[in-house]
Amino acid sequence: VKLARFKYGTRIGYGILQDGVIEEISTTPFLPYEVTGVTYDLDDVRLLAPCVPSKVIGIALNYRDHVEEMGKPIPDYPTFFFKPSTSVVGPGDRVVRPPGSKQLDYEGELAVVIGSVARSVSLGRYQEVVLGYTCGVDATARDLQALDSQWGRAKGFDSSAPIGPWIETELDPSDLALTTRLNDEVRQSSSTSKMVFNVSALITFVSAYITLLPGDVILTGTPSGIGPMEPGDQLTVEIEGIGALEVSVADSPGPR
Ligand code: MG
Repeated sequence: VKLARFKYGTRIGYGILQDGVIEEISTTPFLPYEVTGVTYDLDDVRLLAPCVPSKVIGIALNYRDHVEEMGKPIPDYPTFFFKPSTSVVGPGDRVVRPPGSKQLDYEGELAVVIGSVARSVSLGRYQEVVLGYTCGVDATARDLQALDSQWGRAKGFDSSAPIGPWIETELDPSDLALTTRLNDEVRQSSSTSKMVFNVSALITFVSAYITLLPGDVILTGTPSGIGPMEPGDQLTVEIEGIGALEVSVADSPGPR
């Protein structure tokens, strides 16, 4: 099932997407719901980020080829970091290059959407806490990352976590093609099978330390081929079985 969050006029809602039509639901995908009977043509709504996370957790160095391109050893355990709720944007939105940065990199990633409270999840029980999967970008100000010992501003700036276009609930995340295009040119082409730590291992590891709440998102790391984006660029992350997330790039307008 594809679950979308959308805006129609001033109305914001959630619905089930099928054949270009969104069937509205009464609450959210994270609560008991019923279909309301109201439908919207996909062309008539604006899709929003498909969930509103309390936090986004990013995983560092989780594809072997990316670990190699960064010149690092394969990690023994996952390193994770936070992107705040204010970093989230949706399909068609802009990633705004933050002040002081001249190198804003794309990182196309599989995004896991948590469906129920997850704390100390045993290995192999991840499906009990996952609602589904969507496409994500871990936009990174690489130059600021090199300057700072913590990645709060380099990876947590406003608009650094595009997710969407919807949540696919019926998906095995173990071997999905992931393709990142910059202005229609393929820059990353890999499979989620190349993760160092798979979705199950990531949820077990992270939930041992951090309680994951419904709607929270884990960005599972990026394959090789990362590189810079310039204002005016179009970025697309496409994942097999989900669809494609498209965003554009803009430069910071500076202080207001
Ligand atoms: Mg990343």
